[in-house]
Amino acid sequence: MAAQKKIIIITAPSGAGKTSVTKYLLSKICTLRFSVSATTRKPRSNEVDETDYYFITEDAFNKKIHEDAFIEWEMVYEGKYYGTFKSELERIWSNNTIPLLDIDVKGAIHVQNQFNSDCLTIFIEPPSVDELKKRLQSRGTESLENLQTRLNKAIFELSFKHQFNKIVINDDLQRACTETENIVSDFLSQ
Ligand code: 5GP
Repeated sequence: MAAQKKIIIITAPSGAGKTSVTKYLLSKICTLRFSVSATTRKPRSNEVDETDYYFITEDAFNKKIHEDAFIEWEMVYEGKYYGTFKSELERIWSNNTIPLLDIDVKGAIHVQNQFNSDCLTIFIEPPSVDELKKRLQSRGTESLENLQTRLNKAIFELSFKHQFNKIVINDDLQRACTETENIVSDFLSQ
């Protein structure tokens, strides 16, 4: 049933706390399921294939583009592709659950344009660019060059925040999580 095919999207610049908010929502709202994206980037040491991402080669990714398998895809970072499979959303809906997407700003806008009112987009805003830099540094997963790339992209992405349904400022993670949970619960009860 089309009316049940809702989508929740959490988007934000890298380091704004999107992953923490996403994990919190998954633990609190039992009808949500994480939408596992495909990516051509290499797995980090703590990441599991088919749980965190479908880690695939660039050739396999291109093949999927030609098969029209993606609802959206982006080159999020230079040479690194990320995309949401249509089959992933269908799988989640077919279990009477609702996909929760953690995707970049451009991807979020694409999905929003396709699903309109069935889609809730929430932009997690960092309190400041300085704070974002600190968070990215403390994560320790990025080289200096990657860090600067992510920071530049973050500044660009912040300029799109008003295109989303809701903006949540992550000045305090617990508060931001609770605020987001309330927004999602309201949307799901409509
Ligand atoms: P990371 O490499 O840190 O896991 O993710 C980098 C960025 O790619 C994050 O902003 C993440 O939300 C985004 N991302 C993850 N999956 C997708 C996807 O399927 N589509 C798009 N457009 N972005 C994605």
